[in-house]
Amino acid sequence: MAGAKFWQGTMSDTDLPAREAMEFDVVIVGAGPAGLAAAIRLKQLDPELGVVVVEKGSEVGAHILSGAVVDPIGLDRLLPEWRKDADAPLKTPVTDDRFYWLGPAGGLRLPNILMPPLMSNHGNYVVSLGNVCRWLATKAEALGVEIYPGFAAAEVLYGDQGEVVGVATGDMGIGKNGEHKDSFTRGMDLRAKYTLFAEGARGSLSKQLIAKFELAKDREPQKFGIGLKELWKVAPEKHKPGLVQHSFGWPLDNSTGGGSFLYHLEDGQVVVGFVVHLNYKNPYLSPFDEFQRFKQHPFIRDTFVGGKRISYGARAITEGGWQSVPKLTFPGGALIGCAAGFINVPRIKGSHNAVLSGMQAAEHVNAALKDGRIGDEITDYEDAWRATDIGRDLKRVRNVKPLWSKLGTMIGIACGGLDMWTNTFGFSLFGTLKHGKPDSATLEPAAKFKPIAYPKPDGVVSFDKLSSVFLSNTNHEEDQPVHLVVKDMALQKSSEHDVYAGPSNRYCPAGVYEWVEETSGPRFQINAQNCVHCKTCDIKDPNQNINWTVPEGSGGPNYPNM
Ligand SMILES: Cc1cc2nc3c(=O)[nH]c(=O)nc-3n(C[C@H](O)[C@H](O)[C@H](O)COP(=O)(O)OP(=O)(O)OC[C@H]3O[C@@H](n4cnc5c(N)ncnc54)[C@H](O)[C@@H]3O)c2cc1C
Ligand code: SF4
Repeated sequence: MAGAKFWQGTMSDTDLPAREAMEFDVVIVGAGPAGLAAAIRLKQLDPELGVVVVEKGSEVGAHILSGAVVDPIGLDRLLPEWRKDADAPLKTPVTDDRFYWLGPAGGLRLPNILMPPLMSNHGNYVVSLGNVCRWLATKAEALGVEIYPGFAAAEVLYGDQGEVVGVATGDMGIGKNGEHKDSFTRGMDLRAKYTLFAEGARGSLSKQLIAKFELAKDREPQKFGIGLKELWKVAPEKHKPGLVQHSFGWPLDNSTGGGSFLYHLEDGQVVVGFVVHLNYKNPYLSPFDEFQRFKQHPFIRDTFVGGKRISYGARAITEGGWQSVPKLTFPGGALIGCAAGFINVPRIKGSHNAVLSGMQAAEHVNAALKDGRIGDEITDYEDAWRATDIGRDLKRVRNVKPLWSKLGTMIGIACGGLDMWTNTFGFSLFGTLKHGKPDSATLEPAAKFKPIAYPKPDGVVSFDKLSSVFLSNTNHEEDQPVHLVVKDMALQKSSEHDVYAGPSNRYCPAGVYEWVEETSGPRFQINAQNCVHCKTCDIKDPNQNINWTVPEGSGGPNYPNM
């Protein structure tokens, strides 16, 4: 089968020049672990396949934000020899695994013996997932995969029968009012026999596909958290490579789900992060400020005193798990990785399942291509996943999140732990619990709450939002249409502002949204250039009135070792 070839694309808009088109066997959207694993597996199975990966970040890894403690089950299957590769950026095995419950002034370490075996991090590695992706990209390119960083897939292309036939990258050089600048260039049609969507949590095209093909029908709503993270270089005497620490409890109250992670990597680096479940009710809650407050805890603060903060970022994480994974396939393509939501919530791990799902989809696509099929539905991938390692991983923990949401942190986690233990032996006392409402529907009117007075940052371990965003190296071409599309501005004022007191200002970890008081009334200001592409606004806006779309390619954060 051939690699890429050019032909003149069809005129999709009569006012615009036609897009050029390139043809591949498989187009993959997103160079995260899922997309890169799929690309590598396809070329391992058939070196002649034409495979392309488009990535909206300026380079592979630029938009990857994760913990990360990685379970190597996926890599062991994809690249069985990886431990012999001196360039593999998995250098720090987990040596010490700790869980804490925190109160305001102290805490309790939970004995490891109480933890269900699936929660053990023994055999896992502390990594920068961005660097793992950079390394996977070199493996993919060595096999002949074409990777185009700096190109955002902006549109799904459909064939005559409604099947997916590829994607189009966004036009470049459009000014903020829609005018074409001198630099205007049309995007490119990337056409394929099959297209795999590996956009990660709340993918912008994946969201459209889930709606168009009703992939979430008969499933529980997808649930999400927002994860905020910092990378630090700490004082040498405080560095304990391989130490992995998780906590729950303070500073969140019992009815707000979430918790922290703190991992010691190599070279004096420590990552600290905080996840807040996006089903919180209080519109005054600010995940960013909860994170800053968390670092002041007596068990945590000392690690960072005398250290230097290197980077900051945020990203949504899927939390719905087993019950919420949508149907994975549709004519001409499939969802892989966190675009489908393969996160194991209590383990805060999804990269292993991202790799495994990329591989599984690749194997089914390759089999279809071998049979001469084009653009039909890869139903075997959908039919098989629940009986694979991904399904087994998610099924055992399926009740942890709903129990936490329904019963609060203390009782919910205890019941979740019990359920994980019974599932270890193959049964559950709870069956399969439902998640209930989507996260956009959980906020309650501001009138029911008092504003939260968060402490001022001390500039030593806690910081303000704007100096934090600076460390994400976020950059967007300023003269371009705002990529955060508010569908109905009047609704934003009458509901988001008047009823919920402007929660976007607090849930956005990058200071993008502000209500500016003017003589004519409050105005919704969108500082789109600060956006770190976490997707929280697309998830949490109470009216689903904000639509995250891709900005011009390369725009967004430039995370170093995140
Ligand atoms: C705070 C946090 C902590 C986590 N901790 C861990 C952990 O310790 N261990 C673990 O295993 N997992 C962890 N995870 C989960 C893990 O990061 C994900 O499971 C994993 O990254 C999913 O891989 P993916 O390839 O599906 O998506 P992603 O890693 O999100 O990659 C998607 C890629 O697609 C690109 N993209 C998206 N849309 C487009 C588009 N339209 N056009 C072009 N490119 C596009 C993005 O820029 C990105 O590079 C954590 C997640 C978070 C948020
Ligand atoms: S604008 Fe939306 S996607 Fe961008 S950083 Fe803020 S919440 Fe995240």
